Amino acid sequence: MDPMFSPPLHVQRHQFVIDFVKRNKPQKVVDLGCSECSLLKKLKFHREIELLVGVDINGAQLKRKMHGLAPISTYYLQPTYDQLRIELYQGSVTQKDVRLRGFDLVTSIELIEHLTLADVDRFSEVVFGYMTPVAVIVSTPNSEFNPLFPGLSGFRHSDHKFEWTRAEFKSWALKVCLEYGYEVEFTGVGQAPPGQQERVGFCSQIGVFHRLGGRDVYNMLLGDDAEDVFSYTLLYSINYPSLRDNNILRRVLVSEVLYWAEKLKKRWIEAGELQTGERDDTYTPCQTEGRGEECLRASERCMEMEEKQTAACGAEMENPVEQCGRGVSEDKEREDEKLFWTNVQGQQESCKLHRYVSVPLAVLWSRCPKICALSGNLSNLRHFLMEAPEVKLSQDGWAVLVQDHDLEEEDHNYLEDSGYAEASQCSHSAEQEEAWGTNV
Ligand code: SAM
Repeated sequence: MDPMFSPPLHVQRHQFVIDFVKRNKPQKVVDLGCSECSLLKKLKFHREIELLVGVDINGAQLKRKMHGLAPISTYYLQPTYDQLRIELYQGSVTQKDVRLRGFDLVTSIELIEHLTLADVDRFSEVVFGYMTPVAVIVSTPNSEFNPLFPGLSGFRHSDHKFEWTRAEFKSWALKVCLEYGYEVEFTGVGQAPPGQQERVGFCSQIGVFHRLGGRDVYNMLLGDDAEDVFSYTLLYSINYPSLRDNNILRRVLVSEVLYWAEKLKKRWIEAGELQTGERDDTYTPCQTEGRGEECLRASERCMEMEEKQTAACGAEMENPVEQCGRGVSEDKEREDEKLFWTNVQGQQESCKLHRYVSVPLAVLWSRCPKICALSGNLSNLRHFLMEAPEVKLSQDGWAVLVQDHDLEEEDHNYLEDSGYAEASQCSHSAEQEEAWGTNV
């Protein structure tokens, strides 16, 4: 039938639902008779939806199609703060299930004509009387349009139990409204040819129902003695990755920190901005601690800058994480860098430790808006990184230590040239001992 329409009729029906979702921003949506999950696949891109559920009596079909609802890799690589859970149930719309109560939107697209009239009554009671959603969209064929299909005799599909005229649909819908406290508007998709629209109506007729009293009535209804029935079988459920999940947030933050720490290290080395110190005990662990304190003082100064920057960060960006990827302009970076180095002059320049370059958290925090947005403040950043085994922190926890392979090479040469190994009396940690062992 679809070739008569452009875009195809099923696409127009789904677009109708999508437009409704855009206007009304429902958070919990269930599609009854979801079939091949094609409407669900489109709805999952609508960020206001937090719970998306599909129900169909045909479990085998759901199992074949359900994997198309899984998040693609981009969701894991660049998660946002949006939350989405998808669930698929095998069950009949003529039966109640408590998990489907209290939704904002229920859609029933080309479903009711597959039910017997007795089951349509059960459907009405389950959907409008038990599930009590804020809104319901019901679409069904309009039999008055059928004469426009060349060669069609009988119903449009062999499984249809009935096809209603506009008057029959209206009569059912108004009865439902009266019985369960809803109001309804009638519309449709699939325009008739010019001059015939009024006579035959839309190819798919649609009723959009709104519960009288809106959201408030739901809490009253929940208070009634409704039974907790679980008649559906859960076939599939998935939580989309979200930055509201602390594990995901930590993973993204760590990857961002490692990227920036490495980038800053390279830049500072290229610019000769690191003080390498003398080739003597400067590099021993005991003095490393001293360096840490200096870094801490520098960090404290930076924390003073933090409040100002947080304000700027928040004001500039509505959704900072999405808008402040790694693409900070080079000019801005260099400007900030200069500012930072000026601010912490005399304290920060010597943060190049033995074979590691120390990148203060304050620098990372102030340099990368994404790190700033994800962590919220410098203490949070430190807290997150302290729980991340893949990040090596300075003893005081205020700097990331990035291994410098060039330095390692230099150390190796130096140790060989100077006979340092024999001369050195300084104590060092087991970890360093292990690392040095091969060189000495
Ligand atoms: N809504 C789908 C869409 O827009 O792409 C198309 C629906 S398809 C025409 C009808 C679906 O209703 C079928 O997948 C069928 O398995 C399902 N169905 C039939 N009777 C049902 C029932 N009692 N409960 C739940 N689903 C039912």
